Amino acid sequence: MANNEESRGLKSLFDWFANRRKSGTTNSERQEREIADGLWHKCPKCGVLTYTKDLKANQMVCTECGHHNRVDSDERIKQLIDTNTWQPIDDNLHPTDPLGFRDRKAYSDRIREYQEKVGLIDAVKTGLGQINSLPIALGVMDFRFMGGSMGSVVGEKLTRLIEQATQRRYPVVIVCTSGGARMQEGMLSLMQMAKISAALQRHQDARLLYIPVLTNPTTGGVTASFAMLGDLILAEPKATIGFAGRRVIEQTLREKLPEDFQTAEDLLKHGFVDEIVSRTQLKNTLAQLISLHQPMPTTQNMMVWESMSLSSTGVD
Ligand SMILES: [Zn+2]
Repeated sequence: MANNEESRGLKSLFDWFANRRKSGTTNSERQEREIADGLWHKCPKCGVLTYTKDLKANQMVCTECGHHNRVDSDERIKQLIDTNTWQPIDDNLHPTDPLGFRDRKAYSDRIREYQEKVGLIDAVKTGLGQINSLPIALGVMDFRFMGGSMGSVVGEKLTRLIEQATQRRYPVVIVCTSGGARMQEGMLSLMQMAKISAALQRHQDARLLYIPVLTNPTTGGVTASFAMLGDLILAEPKATIGFAGRRVIEQTLREKLPEDFQTAEDLLKHGFVDEIVSRTQLKNTLAQLISLHQPMPTTQNMMVWESMSLSSTGVD
């Protein structure tokens, strides 16, 4: 019986090799198929192949060159929020088509297509949760939905999130990624910039903390409003951050722009960004900043203060 099974096993293994020889699959073909299957991931920066599972474990940051691959809103929430503490807000806010806008196709059809393809209702997720046991209000934009463009739903969800945070005296963190305002909603999308900014002003008047995290890419109306209004502005390494596109500026100024123009690193140099934080350090950095901003001294931030003052004494 055992012998039979063994010989069947050997035979199937032999068949497998024979089939492979017959089909003539080369190593590189197999590799490409496995990349297509999502088993392996080829880094767009350094070209190194990483097992997708390992890349996910490293928060989609290339272990070889540190390239930050794009992550969707669900993944980002998982990375930042403590398990079982996420409570979404306004999950069912649907976009409408008030202008009856049509370019190559009707805006209403475009919305439906993206909803089916991406599985989101619009381009932002908002909610309350905990970050290393500290309560926060978090908004995460999703580039997969119409390039993270800011229409009425994105504006309204973020405004309601900030208002709820002000009421509860929670800090606000918004992970930004956007191609800018959603032109299909015309003036209504531009209005969101003022609406969110006004809510943030009230949050600041209440002496509460707001930290935007700028990820690749953060551009247009988002940069021109809430992305730049943080008490502290963090960015991911090498993220493109700007208002107008590079080509438009070059054509207007009629001069060549430097290589690192509109990168997080260049913005840090010029004081538009306060710190560049690797995604693998983001959760702890945010928790530390929020804890330092707490009005009442807790054991945790007392320890942080102590270690900071000790290290600065050391430097002096
Ligand atoms: Zn890489």
